[in-house]
Amino acid sequence: MIVLEVVVPIPINKAFYYLPLNNINSEDIIRKRVKVPFGKKILTAYAISYRNIKSSNTLKLKHIIEIIDKNNLITDEAIELSKYISKNYVCSLGEALSSIIPTSMKPSKRIFKNKNIEKKVEDKKYTLNKQQNDAINLINENLNKNVYSSFLIHGVTASGKTEVYINAIEYALKQNKSTIMLIPDISLTTQFSNVMIARFNENVGIWHSGISNNEKYGLFLKAINGDIKIIIGARSAVFAPFKNLGLIIIDEEHEHTYKQEQKPSYDTREIAKWRGKYQNAIVILGSATPSLESYKDAMDKNVNLIELNKRIDNKELPEVKVLTLKNRIFKTSSFLPETIKAISTVLARKEQIIVFLNRRGYSTSIVCKKCNSVYQCPRCSISMVFHRNPDSLKCHYCGKMKYLPVSCPLCKGKNVTFFGSGTQKVEDELKKLFKYAKIFRLDGDTASSKKNYERAYNGIKSEEYDILIGTQMIAKGFDFPKVSLVCVIDADISLYIPDFKSIEKTFQLITQVSGRTGRGNTRGNVIVQTNHPHHYAIEYAKKHDFKSFYKIEIEQRKRLSYPPFCYIAKVSIRGKKCRKVDEDSEKLFFFLKDLVAKYKLELEILGPVSAYIAKLNYIYKKHIIIKGSKNNILKLAEFLGNFKQSVGSFIGIEVMPSDLI
Ligand SMILES: [Zn+2]
Ligand SMILES: [Zn+2]
Repeated sequence: MIVLEVVVPIPINKAFYYLPLNNINSEDIIRKRVKVPFGKKILTAYAISYRNIKSSNTLKLKHIIEIIDKNNLITDEAIELSKYISKNYVCSLGEALSSIIPTSMKPSKRIFKNKNIEKKVEDKKYTLNKQQNDAINLINENLNKNVYSSFLIHGVTASGKTEVYINAIEYALKQNKSTIMLIPDISLTTQFSNVMIARFNENVGIWHSGISNNEKYGLFLKAINGDIKIIIGARSAVFAPFKNLGLIIIDEEHEHTYKQEQKPSYDTREIAKWRGKYQNAIVILGSATPSLESYKDAMDKNVNLIELNKRIDNKELPEVKVLTLKNRIFKTSSFLPETIKAISTVLARKEQIIVFLNRRGYSTSIVCKKCNSVYQCPRCSISMVFHRNPDSLKCHYCGKMKYLPVSCPLCKGKNVTFFGSGTQKVEDELKKLFKYAKIFRLDGDTASSKKNYERAYNGIKSEEYDILIGTQMIAKGFDFPKVSLVCVIDADISLYIPDFKSIEKTFQLITQVSGRTGRGNTRGNVIVQTNHPHHYAIEYAKKHDFKSFYKIEIEQRKRLSYPPFCYIAKVSIRGKKCRKVDEDSEKLFFFLKDLVAKYKLELEILGPVSAYIAKLNYIYKKHIIIKGSKNNILKLAEFLGNFKQSVGSFIGIEVMPSDLI
């Protein structure tokens, strides 16, 4: 009897056996997605192979219900890669495969074409500088070799990394090789996709969460068949099923969006390197502020370092001024007098300003004057943010919204104090200060639609607006020659977050947002308002000195034993009952401790501690942190399934998480 070996996307790491459909050759079923009965459900699963077994063993087996795909979607590489992911990110083969070949993709007869892009974007040909040319030559040389190698391009903001990427893609294309181009957030970077479509038109496919399941299927097939040669997308595009891969480019490689938080919690950079090795392709990571991990890799010569330390056309890096908020006289104003003066000077020169504040809403917290209690989200352990238009309270974590109560829910007091400014307040203040300036605010509240993002982009480009206020979504990718001043309202927001990466993130954010200015003919200026003017993250961002920052920060990581000097796993315990979560996390802690002792694993088990947001949408969450070598952590993780938590509690593990909060 012939049976099919089917991998199901559930957290059980074994294959299941099914009988083929009657009259259909098993050979024609394998390597395709199939529908199978599983318990009381019908699931989309992966038919991997078939085998002959004694018919007496097949009595209890069920038939598959349907073959979904006409073409073989499951390549050898996909199977090998799913094994790698399953082992290294602690998940089942089925869960890994569902990342590589989404179960949601649906076959369709429609043919999807790229929208017609106006040709004018492409004609902008740059004269490349020597550093760019050297970088391109080095990459092309390696493309000729047809063996795996990897590069880190550390290029200051506006150093012309994109031109280097495009030249490498062109060269790969000449060799008939395919490229995967990854950017941190594709839904918000239409302009980049447009440039690529204009250059490479029919060869380009855009892969992101916004496209339909039919379109995804179409793209997937085109990539497998080699009908397109370039896929641009966010994280999950790293799985694009090209068979003749030449290049994988990860732009802004330091961005946390490259780490998937849900299961399988893979790191896109590691997947790229794995695929590069499998297909003898080149992997390029690029950033103005490389992650400490990647830069250390370059220092250790595991990755080739390419430095672009000059801006294109020899433009100067902006001058950064750090102003202390400590001796602020008017505590209610978001701006220091010097900042206001700088803004008015730039407005008088008819140039543009970007005002950056990584906090949306009006005031970050509301406190009752009588009893000092903070207005908290009823579902989460965090204060609600006051928003204007309409006046309301919003939880930025679960989305809960309610009207501002007329009196304090605890003491019925009528007076409250507002603390902390958000982008709405900054907008209000600027409108009062500069009555004739045209101001646009771009943050999570206004940019929910792509249209608003494009309005901001086009409005600044066409000089319709004088001032753009925004959260971190304006910190990257924006390239406007008329912006000659960037103001960072509060550089300390990310510094306060209790996480081992918060200093690194602060340095990255200030550097990236500073890079939005000085791209035209005049040198740009940046003003950074902070309570910690002498913090090294701020001092080195001011000096555009990544290397000195790296030296200090990497020493800290070494001293405190954090990645890249060890491996980390974050085990989370979640549940609706606070007491159960407490009990389970204590039990789990000792369960892990016992295993460490029993198998003599050199691992540190820390915790359990409450998550940064201890209660989120009624769910309580605690963490246990495991530190040590990769092998030991993965070995310990194998036993996690044996732990018996209480009903209603859930245990999860994330290997090398992007934060520990
Ligand atoms: Zn009160
Ligand atoms: Zn909430």
